[in-house]
Amino acid sequence: MIIQENVPMSEHTSFKVGGPARYFVKAESVSDIKEAIAFANEHALPNYILGKGTNLLVSDSGYNGVIIQLGKFFSEITNLGNGKIRARGATPLARLARYTINEGLAGIHKLAGIPGSLGGAIYMNAGAYGQDVSQTCVEVESIDSAGNLHTRAAADCKFGYRHSVFQELAKCEPKIPEPAEGGQSNFLSETILSATFQLTPATELGKTAKDLESEMQECMTKRRNSQPLSMPNAGSTFKRLDAGAAETPTLIAPGYYIEQAGLKGYCIGGAEVSRVHANFIVNADHATAADIKALSEHVQNAVAQKFGIQLKREIILLGKF
Ligand SMILES: Cc1cc2nc3c(=O)[nH]c(=O)nc-3n(C[C@H](O)[C@H](O)[C@H](O)COP(=O)(O)OP(=O)(O)OC[C@H]3O[C@@H](n4cnc5c(N)ncnc54)[C@H](O)[C@@H]3O)c2cc1C
Repeated sequence: MIIQENVPMSEHTSFKVGGPARYFVKAESVSDIKEAIAFANEHALPNYILGKGTNLLVSDSGYNGVIIQLGKFFSEITNLGNGKIRARGATPLARLARYTINEGLAGIHKLAGIPGSLGGAIYMNAGAYGQDVSQTCVEVESIDSAGNLHTRAAADCKFGYRHSVFQELAKCEPKIPEPAEGGQSNFLSETILSATFQLTPATELGKTAKDLESEMQECMTKRRNSQPLSMPNAGSTFKRLDAGAAETPTLIAPGYYIEQAGLKGYCIGGAEVSRVHANFIVNADHATAADIKALSEHVQNAVAQKFGIQLKREIILLGKF
C-alpha cells in the first residue's frame, strides 16, 4: 500500500478546488482498505472514502486525515447472466451504463452522463431522467471500518431520493464535521465494494440495444444543452424540493427559484451561479472552496427570503470551513 502525503484535493474533485489531504491512499485490495483504516487509527486521524469527487466540496485548508480512494482492482464489471450485472465500487458509472447498453440490458442506461463512480452513485442514490440506481440495484457489498464484510439486499439500503443507508452510517449528511484533533475516526463507516443490478433485457420491452443507445444519447444531448459542462462544477448544488424526483414538476426544482431570485450569473469571488443552469455553481475563475460555500449560502438566504423556501445542499462538504 502506497501512502502519499499532502495530495491536493483540487486534483481529485470536479470543482477543482480543495487543499491537501494529509494522507492519500489508493486501495488496490480489500486488505489495503483495512490497512489504510488501521494507519488512520494509529495516527488518531479520521479517514474518508473518496469516489471520483464529483459531488464534493473540499475545504481550502484540505483534509487532516486519510483519504482512501478505490483503485483499478475495484473497477470491474461482471455479467452474472439473466440480466444480473455486478460492478465494483470504483467502476465509472458511465462505463457501467454503456456496458449494459452493449449487453442489451435496460435499467441504468440513462445514467451514462453522471460522472461519478458506482460507489458514489450507491451512496448518493444517483439518478437522472427517471432512473436512479435504487430502482434496479438488488444487492450491495461493503466493508465497515472494523473490517467486517456486509452484504445488504437493496431493501436494507434505505434508498430514498439522493439517500442511502450509507449516508446514515457515515453520519455525514449534509455536512461532514472534522472531529477534534486526535479524535477517533467516525467517518468511514462502510466502504461500498460492489453492487449488483437486476436489469431487463431490451427485447422484453420490445426494444433493441440500439434503442437503449438512442435513449442514452438523447439524455446526453439534454445534459449538454442544459448543463454548464465546460466549467468545473459538482452537479446540482441543491436537492429537489420533495422526495418524488421523477414526479416533481419542474416548476419546483431549485433552479426555478434561484433564477426567479435573480441569481443567475451572481458571483462571489471566482464562484458563479451558472448562467446555463441556476442550480449549478461553477468554478468560473480560480474559485476557492470558501467562495463556493459562501455563494451556496447566499443563494439559500436569498431564496428563503424571497420565497420562504429552505434549499438543502446536495453537494457534500469535507474538511473545516
Ligand atoms: C456535471 C455533473 C453532472 C452530474 N449529474 C448528476 C445527475 O444527473 N444525477 C445525480 O444524482 N448526480 C449527478 N452529479 C453528482 C455526482 O456525479 C453524483 O452524486 C455521483 O454519484 C457521485 O459519485 P462520486 O464517485 O464522484 O462520489 P464522490 O463525490 O467522490 O463522493 C460522494 C459521497 O459518496 C461517498 N462514496 C463514494 N464512493 C464510496 C464508496 N465506494 N463507499 C462508500 N462511500 C462512497 C463519499 O464518501 C461521499 O460522501 C453530477 C455531477 C457533475 C459534476
